[in-house]
Amino acid sequence: MPQTPQNILKSVFGYEAFRPLQQEIIDNLLQKRDTMVIMPTGGGKSLCYQIPALLFDGLTVVVSPLISLMKDQVEQLQQLGVAAAFLNSSLSPAEFKATVKQVTDGKLKLLYMAPEGLLTDRTLEMLHTQTLSCLTIDEAHCISEWGHDFRPEYRRLVRVRKAFPGAVLIALTATATPRVQKDIVETLEFESTNAFIASFNRENLFMEIVAKTDPATQLLDFLDRHKEQSGIIYCFSRRQVDSLAGYLAALGHSVLPYHAGLEDGVRKSNQDQFIRDDVQIMIATIAFGMGINKPNVRFVVHYDLPKNIESYYQEIGRAGRDGLRADCLLLFGYGDLQKIRYFIDQKENTQEQRAARMHLQALVDLAESHQCRRIPLLRYFGETYTRENCAMCDNCLRGEQPTQDVTVAAQKLLSCIKRTREMFGANHIIDILRGSENKKIIDFGHQRLSTYGIGVEYSRDQWLQIIRQLISQGVLNKAPEYGSLKLTAAGIEVLFGRQKAHVVLQQEPPRQPMQLELEYDRVLFEQLRQKRKQLADQQLIPPYAVFPDRTLIEMAKYFPQSEDRLRSLHGIGHVKLEKYGRIFLMLIRNYCREKGIAEVPFITTSLKKKTPGMLRHVQVGSAFAAGHSIEALQRQFNIKKSTIVAHLYRYLQEGLSLTAKQIRDEIHLNEKEVADVIACFDLHGAEYLTPVFEDLGRRIPYETLHLLRIYYLLQDRNET
Ligand code: ADP
Ligand code: ZN
Repeated sequence: MPQTPQNILKSVFGYEAFRPLQQEIIDNLLQKRDTMVIMPTGGGKSLCYQIPALLFDGLTVVVSPLISLMKDQVEQLQQLGVAAAFLNSSLSPAEFKATVKQVTDGKLKLLYMAPEGLLTDRTLEMLHTQTLSCLTIDEAHCISEWGHDFRPEYRRLVRVRKAFPGAVLIALTATATPRVQKDIVETLEFESTNAFIASFNRENLFMEIVAKTDPATQLLDFLDRHKEQSGIIYCFSRRQVDSLAGYLAALGHSVLPYHAGLEDGVRKSNQDQFIRDDVQIMIATIAFGMGINKPNVRFVVHYDLPKNIESYYQEIGRAGRDGLRADCLLLFGYGDLQKIRYFIDQKENTQEQRAARMHLQALVDLAESHQCRRIPLLRYFGETYTRENCAMCDNCLRGEQPTQDVTVAAQKLLSCIKRTREMFGANHIIDILRGSENKKIIDFGHQRLSTYGIGVEYSRDQWLQIIRQLISQGVLNKAPEYGSLKLTAAGIEVLFGRQKAHVVLQQEPPRQPMQLELEYDRVLFEQLRQKRKQLADQQLIPPYAVFPDRTLIEMAKYFPQSEDRLRSLHGIGHVKLEKYGRIFLMLIRNYCREKGIAEVPFITTSLKKKTPGMLRHVQVGSAFAAGHSIEALQRQFNIKKSTIVAHLYRYLQEGLSLTAKQIRDEIHLNEKEVADVIACFDLHGAEYLTPVFEDLGRRIPYETLHLLRIYYLLQDRNET
């Protein structure tokens, strides 16, 4: 059988279908065209170079910045029977020598190295004994000073590239900013730029953001719904990590802490136990996560607020890399917000301060939004999310939320705040309104106020919701130090009935069933999991390197009785079938015999492969370039204007050409207005629109800004 990417996908990796863009990228690389890949975490970047590596005659060298990442990748490849190895400082001299011999004997298909190691003369000499077919630069954003993880050695990699002109180059990253992309392409001297940019939407992540009212109970509730699952809980400080870890451990949860204050050895051991499924939950500061490849992280909880929208995205991104559903909960507290604001205020550089504020504000907007969470989140990354209902966020599940007129309630609240001289926080004010008899009330004599007990029609939680929204609408102010509430000018207007107040009062969010989509036999699954763990421990590898969760779930759903049937399951290629097939079959057969269960016929889930002849953005972009107006395209493709503009942006980002004049004709602003916007892009860069939107006083709608950005980038391009 001729080897094709498609049959390697099944026979080696055991997967049925490519994920979006994987096939296109692989084809491009096989045609020896330099390739840039921008794909979110979990998108499936590794396969994009691993499959070509198996098809090329010579060796593929993979540059990776972290030893833990290399080790993880190589372990997984070796499990699949792929001839892969790494060379780095963690090897003993004997191991090092043996690996070098494997290279010079031409025994390897993939060799992983850190840039420092690769750049030595000795290594280059060693590589010259072989044909180098492909040079892969993983985590390529490390090249750019504009990226979040700059590594100077990465810039010198061009030397390797020049030393092996016959090798095709592929650079991969999850960081999408155009500036970083440009840096990568220029620094590595790409021959041609074929960039593939995947959507940053992670469909399998369920996003939920709720007010942090009683965090401990909220967390326990959540964990109760995620029993036996692996997850990460992020906290703001080391102290918080330690105290939460102690608390949960005392309640019998399987948890360990992780933060920069722990000794190296402890940190490493805690991380290993998590990866090996010896412990289920990692309680961590943001120090945790980089270099973690664990695919079956089923939840991420933000116990405290992340520092901005980008951190939030990155941190939730560590969940669900295997593509199965994962749940992300953020407890949003205004106290936390003040804390982060305080840290930002300490920054010396005002430019940095402004940027930090804006990125934080984007997170606040996301949290306070009543729209689908994916709309503001993806907008931040320059994408337009157009689906009506994503079905995977709290807001979409809750459905449309009508606002309510709460003018009367607001007046009671505002008057109560006034009468207590704007000196108290939300909790005390609510106590007065609800007629509580606690000590603080009595001490202050607040039971004698005319507003005492006049607000029993709302629960404490509802009052909190009202207060929160009035703050975000600018009717109330919350003092940073003690959280005391104060009326603003708008508040006075509401108090005297000259302005109405509206809020959305939420019901409890509907509880979603937490299954992993598939119904399966839990008892058998547990047995399979134990077997997997045992096999993994024997070989000192993580359980997911034996089989991903999904494989075990399918075993516990279909009860395969033969090797042939086993082969058809997710994640089982020929090497793993040979290695583990018998062991798992025996277990399944015994279980089935005991329980009288028969094999379940396999209904081929018609995995619709999305390979339209031409991608939609290319269709739209070329039609526009051929002279069709946006309005005409809207009719032709029957899609919204914003979607057309998003397609044009992507078309442009992939290096395809559009004319500035044609875009200008679509922008209905005068020269002065356009010049103002351009100046703003000059100042803030064009990666994110929010800074520009804010700087222009929110006057120019995002839709227009999207077009202006294209115009801006085109001008830039034409000048150079
Ligand atoms: P990234 O490097 O982009 O974060 P990975 O390459 O680690 O993502 O892939 C994430 C997970 O998805 C891995 O467990 C990988 O085996 C799996 N995966 C990748 N491609 C496919 C596919 N086509 N079908 C099924 N699973 C896939
Ligand atoms: Zn949604």
